[in-house]
Amino acid sequence: MQLYNTLTRQKEEFKPVDPSEVKLYTCGPTVYNYAHIGNLRTYVFEDILRRALEFEGYLVNHVMNITDVGHLTSDADEGEDKMAKGAKREGKTVWEIAEYYTDAFMRDMERLNLVEPHIKCKATDHIQEMIDQVKALEENGYAYVAENGNVYFDTAAFKDYGAMAQLDKQNLEAGARIEVDDNKRSPNDFALWFVTSKHGDQDMQWDSPWGRGFPGWHIECSAMSTRYLGEQFDIHCGGIDHIPVHHTNEIAQAEGATGKSPWVNTWLHGNFLVLEDDAKMAKSGENFLTLQALIDKGYDPLEYRYFILNAHYRKELRFSFDNLDAAKTALRKLKTKVAKLGDKEGTENAKYIEEFSAAVSDDLNMPQALAITWNLIDDDKVSDEDKLATIKKFDTVLGLKLDEEIHFEIPAEVQELLIERNKAREDKDWAKSDELRDKIDELGFEVHDLSGGSEVRPK
Ligand SMILES: [Zn+2]
Repeated sequence: MQLYNTLTRQKEEFKPVDPSEVKLYTCGPTVYNYAHIGNLRTYVFEDILRRALEFEGYLVNHVMNITDVGHLTSDADEGEDKMAKGAKREGKTVWEIAEYYTDAFMRDMERLNLVEPHIKCKATDHIQEMIDQVKALEENGYAYVAENGNVYFDTAAFKDYGAMAQLDKQNLEAGARIEVDDNKRSPNDFALWFVTSKHGDQDMQWDSPWGRGFPGWHIECSAMSTRYLGEQFDIHCGGIDHIPVHHTNEIAQAEGATGKSPWVNTWLHGNFLVLEDDAKMAKSGENFLTLQALIDKGYDPLEYRYFILNAHYRKELRFSFDNLDAAKTALRKLKTKVAKLGDKEGTENAKYIEEFSAAVSDDLNMPQALAITWNLIDDDKVSDEDKLATIKKFDTVLGLKLDEEIHFEIPAEVQELLIERNKAREDKDWAKSDELRDKIDELGFEVHDLSGGSEVRPK
């Protein structure tokens, strides 16, 4: 399998340290709010990676963290604490916020048909591992206690700091423009443990050798991944926005603490989702687009998944409702064709399986994998039952539930209009009934009047 490694900036033949088990770590959500659809693109890419590895015959051990402490609004040590911000916004405790948004994230994962990680670890359950790693860094000369009592990583002491991000001296100096913090010896130094931060009323606090406080954000991933996957492992993923700060700092921490390099052999990063104007208008102020917002507009989460698979994970993807509509139409067409294949048992077609395997093994070329799926479904030389067997195998990677019936959720607003319309029909108020049909139509649904009553379907 060829995977593009951010460390070397090239595609490389993937070789796991232990061929019997690929060890995979993916950075999880900060549970202070709903995930936006851009975040979810990264999780879909990571899901495809996991499924592709399994398709190629590897056993995978997948670990994902849940950030429920220590993440400030800036990835560097600036801004508000994200969890406290969420708690203030909703008048709840940080613990309640963490629980609520962890559940919301899990629901999104399920709706996008993401395979559950083998281990999901919460930062607040692993404070001891983080303290131990900070202690090791201190012993190895990579950490210092500043005048304010916080413990910082000494980036000048770590020879290869910023190597993956290719942060040269110029970039490092650019970091100095952000905010001068007199407690840091260098502007790129970052907090390992906060004692007397500006968030003195922080609810989440623990005792430590440096005083009561809470961990910095980056330390959780290096500490928990080491705990579950060992001091050196195969793959670590996240969004490209994690390269310059979060992942750069994770590498410095892990390698500084253990003295072993490279900590992780292969780094994969997913590119951004960019909102086109029509999508920008669908959000306002701090309201960003969530999966639920797409569902409320009549989309099936798997239509969003299909939309994502149309672009390579390393390319920027432009989101617009027109593009999502195209994905919706395509997926429905594909599912309709699969439904017509019947349900007889067939045999996987070796030629198509080979082509599909070549596509996913080429750095997860999903647009190509989808093209092969369409070629197969339209290929007259393959029998229906063999097509079905082959498509089911493809779907272990695509994750589109291609052999299941199209599923859609009806938003409450549409349901209420339908009830009202049924009543208008009972009252033989045809004008009102037509008016309500138009309203339902505007919301993207079609009314079907059947003998047993009316129902709505997405248009
Ligand atoms: Zn992380």
